[in-house]
Amino acid sequence: MLVKPILDEALCNGCGLCVDVCRCGALVLVKKIIKIIEAEDCGYCTQCELVCPTGAIQCPFEIVIEETIEIGPEE
Ligand code: SF4
Ligand code: SF4
Repeated sequence: MLVKPILDEALCNGCGLCVDVCRCGALVLVKKIIKIIEAEDCGYCTQCELVCPTGAIQCPFEIVIEETIEIGPEE
């Protein structure tokens, strides 16, 4: 599954900080609104989320907790 940041265009102020920090060239501003142009190039480094001042980019992680099986002492 291709994982990419979630963008909220309504929160984007067009500052361009995320575009500057993205080393994969995955982001672009179109009429001062953020877009992902090359989602397959996104390395999911989360740097765009870190620099965004408005919270327009989210890079969530899913935490999977696997069931553990306790093994008793050997006899
Ligand atoms: S997560 Fe990293 S590679 Fe992906 S768009 Fe953001 S800055 Fe670019
Ligand atoms: S850093 Fe945030 S506010 Fe600035 S262009 Fe990127 S998404 Fe928009």
